Amino acid sequence: MIKGKHLVAGKWVGGDSLFESSPATGPSHKFSVGNTELVNKAAEEAEEAFLSYGYSKPNERASFLNKIAEEIEKRGKEITEIGSQETGLPSQRLEGERARTVGQLILFAKHIQNGDYLDFRHDIALPDRNPPRPEIKLIQRPIGPIAVFGASNFPLAFSVAGGDTASALAAGCTVVVKGHSAHPGTSEIVAQAIDDSIKKCNIHPGTISVIQGGNRDVGQSLVQHPLIKAVGFTGSLTGGKALFDLCASREEPIPFFGELGSVNPMFILPKAISNRTKEIASGWVGSLTLGVGQFCTNPGIAIVLDDENAENFIKEVTTLISEIDPQIMLTDGISKAYRSGCDRMSSLNAIKCLENDNENSRKALPQLFVTNGENWLSQKELSEEVFGPSGLVVKVADFDEMELIAKKMLGQLTCTIHLDGEDQHKAKKLIPILERKAGRIIANGFPTGVEVCDSMVHGGPYPASTNFGATSVGTMSIRRFLRPVCYQNIPNSLLNHDLISN
Ligand code: NAP
Repeated sequence: MIKGKHLVAGKWVGGDSLFESSPATGPSHKFSVGNTELVNKAAEEAEEAFLSYGYSKPNERASFLNKIAEEIEKRGKEITEIGSQETGLPSQRLEGERARTVGQLILFAKHIQNGDYLDFRHDIALPDRNPPRPEIKLIQRPIGPIAVFGASNFPLAFSVAGGDTASALAAGCTVVVKGHSAHPGTSEIVAQAIDDSIKKCNIHPGTISVIQGGNRDVGQSLVQHPLIKAVGFTGSLTGGKALFDLCASREEPIPFFGELGSVNPMFILPKAISNRTKEIASGWVGSLTLGVGQFCTNPGIAIVLDDENAENFIKEVTTLISEIDPQIMLTDGISKAYRSGCDRMSSLNAIKCLENDNENSRKALPQLFVTNGENWLSQKELSEEVFGPSGLVVKVADFDEMELIAKKMLGQLTCTIHLDGEDQHKAKKLIPILERKAGRIIANGFPTGVEVCDSMVHGGPYPASTNFGATSVGTMSIRRFLRPVCYQNIPNSLLNHDLISN
């Protein structure tokens, strides 16, 4: 049952000002519009809750994370139903994303219990050394209340109880979520699961609040609230940069962990394209059009040598793409931005390979554009993300031009190399360039389908993210919400249980 309210410190609160959801299918619902007063209340309660939750034991937080996972699973059917109505994504995708969300919560519960995340270090006292050395210990401590922005393109895995929330709660931070207005009903049901978990685990109700959007003031006042100590965000470069600037201009600037745009280039080397034209073409089309191309890891650009193999590859991709029916996008705004992104490609002398035109609707058809290396290198806008199922093939004159394109690429979440046999020596030249550009480098694969594991990096130099040393997926993402503290000569009786047990 949808209440249309915000969850603030264990209470469901609403007001007279309402916004209506615009689902892709099914009925719309009315939701209370968020405001600054709710943000203030949630941030104050989050600080209050931090005084207990921030000092809780890892096994207590693990039980809480496992309980949230259990409560989400209990509401699985309801979440899938409203999630697919709101986003237009198929039920299967919602079910897969729920499994990932629940899996992330359980993974963090396990991760904190083995204690490695504390990065415990100990230099014993050397009283006889000249000068004497005191006893020095270090552990990571949670930083306080965190603001989390739900993402439009991951209604579960990057929203209310998604990766940012799971890693912040695992660290011992409290959380204020700003729900995305593209899926307020999905956010609310997950908030109901959290509310029940808080009660069942007897956790301070201010540990996590969920405020719906409907008003820009919510996000702006949230990142500027003096009690908020860091922000987790997934979304557009424009929105992320605006919020990042607000964080930087606060009296006390705070870290803004924004995961923003990426075109995820693929460098297809000569032997690979000649040996596996069809295989790479169908893999690319699958990855490019998965989820209507609405993934931050969508491989938007393929760089190939300008020869007969490139022409065969383009033909193959064009044929495969032309067989795909129009698919509904997440929001009207996203489909409008997709259409204008495709128009921008044409205006920059990229040749459109298909005659299909996207109509003025929420449904999108995949598109393919082709340009040459010289044109790409001279027009900066061709390196910008078109969020949706649009691909650009860049035909380069030779390998030197391919290397130059790699050097000119902006920061990326991923870069991919397709290579076979004697492509090795070319790939060896690309790797040192690409590892300065991206958080993840892939060989002979496709970047969509991000594994949630210990060694995953989902981040990269700006504009892929606003913080190049961080990841928003995988267990290392917990580090964003921790800060090392060194304890010098502090007696055991004063130390936190995490230090004493080490
Ligand atoms: P968005 O516009 O960046 O919004 C994400 C969140 O930030 C929303 O909660 C939004 O609030 C808030 N926000 C954005 N600008 C703000 C500002 N100036 N002040 C305060 N809050 C602000 O992303 P989106 O809504 O998901 O989609 C818009 C476009 O982003 C898409 O067309 C697409 O191009 C791109 N996108 C990229 C990725 C990616 O992974 N690279 C993912 C999703 C979207 P409101 O609800 O008030 O708008």
